[in-house]
Amino acid sequence: MITRFAPSPTGRLHLGHAYSAALGRRLGTRWLLRIEDLDPGRARPEFVEGIREDLDWLGLAPDGEPIVQSQRTHLYAAALEGLKEMGLVYPCFCTRADIAASLTAPHGDAGSAYAGTCRALPDDPERRTSTPHSWRLDSAQAIARAGGVPGWREQDGSLHQGTPDMIGDAILARKDAPSSYHLACVVDDAESGVSLVVRGADLRPSTPVQRLLQTLLGLPEPTYLHHPLVTHEDGRRLAKRDEAPTLQAMREAGVDGRALVTALTMGNLPTGYRLGLP
Ligand code: GLU
Repeated sequence: MITRFAPSPTGRLHLGHAYSAALGRRLGTRWLLRIEDLDPGRARPEFVEGIREDLDWLGLAPDGEPIVQSQRTHLYAAALEGLKEMGLVYPCFCTRADIAASLTAPHGDAGSAYAGTCRALPDDPERRTSTPHSWRLDSAQAIARAGGVPGWREQDGSLHQGTPDMIGDAILARKDAPSSYHLACVVDDAESGVSLVVRGADLRPSTPVQRLLQTLLGLPEPTYLHHPLVTHEDGRRLAKRDEAPTLQAMREAGVDGRALVTALTMGNLPTGYRLGLP
């Protein structure tokens, strides 16, 4: 079983990351570390260093060299080319402001709620050369080509059906980033042979679009384990911006990292925290 831990170096890791890492390590005969550093505005080298320090302290040693996404952009570009050749993506010239203005739901996710402004534009290579743009999945075409929205299998054996409303015209590459999370994630999971994707339940909405991309790109289907999130005792979610529960703070307070991993692996959380609903 090949599992992976795929943090984004956009802040210090917290207890939720430690839980995910401990679970992935326990379930994987090989456990890989992948640094998801494709967001140039938010990824920072000091947080990559922080991830190494935290994993060291937890006594969790990844198998093999870490996979660093910013060094692999040619792989994502090739996958995007494949989707272009199949006619399943289109360039999007909308600005963030355009997209925000077109959203109906105030807290909607920009990917799924995108109004499709650029979907039916005639191809204009000159504009593409002169104007920064993103590439979006043409979800209707993509679903038709895949013969429907693929489902996924969770590690407990349950099967989950994907439905078209779970898939938006997701951005697959941005003007300032060579690949979006979804595209890089499926390319890397396949390329490194990940057979079980262990990640928090907050990422479950990503799974249908990732399964669709896997189907279109002819990539193997992993099994998924979307684990419950670690929350504060009162149910509040841990966020990267919360200072208190970072692993760095726990280490500095004298907590034993290896003992923490043993406890987390048995589902025992430190005082003040608990596991949320699955
Ligand atoms: N990089 C993502 C995060 O930090 C995790 C991606 C995944 O596990 O698929 O939330």
